[in-house]
Amino acid sequence: MSIEWETVIGLEIHAQLATRSKIFSGSSTAYGATPNVQANLVDLGYPGILPVLNREAVRMAVRFGLAIGATVARRSIFARKNYFYPDLPKGYQISQYEQPIVKVGSVEIVLDDGARRIGITRAHLEEDAGKSLHEGLGKQSGIDLNRAGTPLLEIVSEPDLRSAREAIAYMKKIHTLVRYLEICDGNMQEGSFRCDANVSVRHKGRREYGTRCEIKNLNSFRFVERAINYEVARQIELLEGGGRVVQETRLFDSDRNETRPMRSKEEANDYRYFPDPDLLPLALDAAFIEEIRGTLPELPDQKAERFEREHGLSRYDSGVLTASREFADFYEAVVGMLGGEAKLAANWVMGDLSGFLNRDNLEIGQSPIGAKQLAGLLARIVDGTISGKIAKEVFEMMWGGVADADAVIAAKGLRQITDTSAIERVIAGVMMANPAQLADYRSGKDKLFGFFVGQVMKATGGKANPAQVNELLRKLLAG
Ligand code: ADP
Ligand code: MG
Repeated sequence: MSIEWETVIGLEIHAQLATRSKIFSGSSTAYGATPNVQANLVDLGYPGILPVLNREAVRMAVRFGLAIGATVARRSIFARKNYFYPDLPKGYQISQYEQPIVKVGSVEIVLDDGARRIGITRAHLEEDAGKSLHEGLGKQSGIDLNRAGTPLLEIVSEPDLRSAREAIAYMKKIHTLVRYLEICDGNMQEGSFRCDANVSVRHKGRREYGTRCEIKNLNSFRFVERAINYEVARQIELLEGGGRVVQETRLFDSDRNETRPMRSKEEANDYRYFPDPDLLPLALDAAFIEEIRGTLPELPDQKAERFEREHGLSRYDSGVLTASREFADFYEAVVGMLGGEAKLAANWVMGDLSGFLNRDNLEIGQSPIGAKQLAGLLARIVDGTISGKIAKEVFEMMWGGVADADAVIAAKGLRQITDTSAIERVIAGVMMANPAQLADYRSGKDKLFGFFVGQVMKATGGKANPAQVNELLRKLLAG
């Protein structure tokens, strides 16, 4: 008898908020500075210092709360989470515990088999810790406190995710959202957006959850996927072998592609949370919250829905195009300049343009072909100057330098042949050169039609209008 297992996942996402200064001090949050030049007395935890809350960080947390339809708490509390680690000079992290600023919201994820709503339990404000440095220091370790005190929004999901794929889709959705809201730069290599994945398995149909493990600090979508898949397989194997899962914190080793124990529940810290006496409860008035609501941009779901409604795009296409705001803007600019042709523009933006950007590792803002140039190229497909196939060649040439479709078409003589008599002359030549195939075709070998199309396209260097070639061939081959 084989049992069917179900995976259960909850994510704790840490998004660094894009404020210019830290959450409780005036030090800069800019990434990449010389170690310890951006840590002042507050960040270093000197005795007698007092934290002062950064209003911008609060605004950003509220923006997020409103965007996920959550309750924004009118009153929230900062707490001390006590533990010792060299990258935490105060000996405690200021976080929110019992009364977070954002409570109970949700987001929708779209998968091949439909859409699902994923619950968000809470999102709270806290400060990031510093960083330990090991490379190039021999047997010693260094500490860089530039990151200490950088504002974080910790976004905690319900255990609503049922596979690594759903977890990735959810994480991407939050990634998209924080960038639309301009509250986080989303740079995963720099650690601005990372997550802890809580994973358990249970027999399908069971109501209670299995024992979970928490995999810490995953900073790429690929690692999240690989870590979860490894962990699910490990837990199932353990349970099927008669063992049991021990609740623990694990680390993902991306070189060996496995998770390893870090600490078990028994050795887990007792954080001795208590309200930070240095910070007053955070009280927000309704006017402050409403003012922020008024500044929200069109959100990804709203934009996708508008693309479906106004442009007649499929839900899938709309979802892909709105995954990044810059991408959506680019697409919309192309459609605007073309005066329609939404599907054509969508295909090119999601197809050739994305493909070339990925190949060359470029952001859309760095594209050598701008929206205006792409619209210029697509206009030549629409008015019949070139075929879609030739347009791909023109696109490639534009990418390499001359970002002007008309210039490339003129210089390379790529204008489509639409002159009926010219195409007829080519067809006559092809028929004369292939008498055997012609005889076979006329005696019923219909499949040879494709051969003739190929010959005509070859003879015209791919420039003959394909629809006309088809129509004229049918007529002339019939005799
Ligand atoms: P803790 O306080 O120990 O961090 P929480 O209850 O806050 O625990 O949960 C942390 C995360 O773990 C949440 O995202 C939650 O959805 C997830 N989670 C809780 N129980 C399970 C479980 N049995 N399997 C998978 N994920 C879980
Ligand atoms: Mg937790």
